[in-house]
Amino acid sequence: MAIEIGHFVEGNHVAGRGGRSGDVTNPATGEVTGKVAFASEAEVDSAVRIAKKAQLAWAATPPLRRQRVMFNLKSLMERRIDDLARLMTLEHGKTLDDAKGEVGRGLEVVEFACGIAHHMRGDFTEQVATDMDSWSIRQPVGVVAGITPFNFPIMIPCWMGAMAVACGNAFILKPSEKDPSAPMLLAELFAEAGLPPGIFQVLNGDKIAVDALLKHPDVPAISFVGSTAIGEYVYHQGTQRNKRVQALCGAKNHMVIMPDADLDQATDALIGAGYGAAGERCMAISVAVAVGDVGDRLIDKLAPRVRALKVGPGLDPQSEMGPLVTRQHRDKVMGYVDHGVKEGAKLLVDGRGLKLQGYENGNFMGGCLFDQVTPAMTIYKDEIFGPVLSVVRSKTFDEAIGLVNDHAYGNGTAIFTRDGDAARAFANNVKIGMVGINVPIPVPVAYHSFGGWKASIFGDHGIYGMEGVRFYTKLKTVTARWPTGIRSGAEFAFKARN
Ligand code: NAD
Repeated sequence: MAIEIGHFVEGNHVAGRGGRSGDVTNPATGEVTGKVAFASEAEVDSAVRIAKKAQLAWAATPPLRRQRVMFNLKSLMERRIDDLARLMTLEHGKTLDDAKGEVGRGLEVVEFACGIAHHMRGDFTEQVATDMDSWSIRQPVGVVAGITPFNFPIMIPCWMGAMAVACGNAFILKPSEKDPSAPMLLAELFAEAGLPPGIFQVLNGDKIAVDALLKHPDVPAISFVGSTAIGEYVYHQGTQRNKRVQALCGAKNHMVIMPDADLDQATDALIGAGYGAAGERCMAISVAVAVGDVGDRLIDKLAPRVRALKVGPGLDPQSEMGPLVTRQHRDKVMGYVDHGVKEGAKLLVDGRGLKLQGYENGNFMGGCLFDQVTPAMTIYKDEIFGPVLSVVRSKTFDEAIGLVNDHAYGNGTAIFTRDGDAARAFANNVKIGMVGINVPIPVPVAYHSFGGWKASIFGDHGIYGMEGVRFYTKLKTVTARWPTGIRSGAEFAFKARN
């Protein structure tokens, strides 16, 4: 029987009152397992009012006490890691191991937030002029909304939510309607950790809820992670209303394989980064750029590994790759494979026909591998977001860098080489936000921030780490003199300070 998933408001689970809802399915079986409520404009307004009121006391709570809540959250998440992971596997499809890893990556940001008293401390300068002192502090922005994608239902809400609330804001999460159960459990854990009611709320929903948050005058800041088309929309709608917006978006990550690379290492990296989570990661590698004569040797190693991928339900410990999130998304990915064949790319491994006994209604497909892909092809230009890897041949290192730089997206990239000069030139010259040297998925640790370039981001701030502190706080600078100090009478003109 399908469970009812409502919202998490003022510390409690509440049923939806808007009358609209969506199906939540198990991607491995195709079964409808839940009905998720879609928040109406009125429900959004009511949650924002609650958040606005609660935020005043929370902002006035000493950061030391706020960070103690983060310590509690950290241990609760560690204790409930199996429950969080299982919920993700059942609604997203990723393997349990991968889902646990996701919780671990979210926890890294919670751990960073455990030090918020230190990260938010201000600057003080004595004697900016005679008998005059000045200090700068960072204060929370108020009510912050976070709109998150389906592919990391715990990690990304932690990237935003832990940072936003630790900085003294109230946070309203609008998770993906495809896998809302894990974020609902996360909200319970925030409450159990000691967060006052109204500081971390979840409103499930679709465009109507997002638009209501974008329009609401009492939501001055919006964090978004998702596709480029929606991110650009959110950025424009938010900034048009003078909100601060950060929108982290789609990707097409290239991995450059130099002729001197350790090919076994590069092959392992491509298999994990190309097909892990069925390619549904914004940092997945979807293009392998084979430089010089390395292409044929690489393909010889890669193709048998793609054929041998163990595809199965995420709950099966033997599975290396689970199903895609929805039937519609799987069909879209397969459509790209059809298109690639029509465009003239060479399909070396075709995963379109995969059938799994007992899981005929699941959204499975096998790994696909294309060779001889060119920059003019749609499968090269578009983000496919599935288990499809394209190999592009490049004669020289400079041509490879050119490919990376000319692509519209700029999230992550990697080079595999033993040549320090090439690695250094690559890291210095690529127009990409996150770069790996013999590291295929260079997601920065929490104390370095995360963010792409070009069409992979709208806005000026990356997410989490000190970029998160800057995004979720406003700078205030005070300049002070006591009445016992010098008196200079009324001053009508600016003067150099002394
Ligand atoms: P999506 O853009 O479809 O959805 C993201 C969020 O926007 C969801 O909460 C969704 O409900 C909402 N939304 C969808 N359509 C909307 C509309 N018309 N108006 C307003 N809101 C709308 O993305 P997705 O399919 O859930 O996630 C996959 C995408 O996210 C990929 O493009 C991936 O690269 C990207 N992503 C980027 C990063 C990053 O850090 N750069 C991380 C993870 C995922």
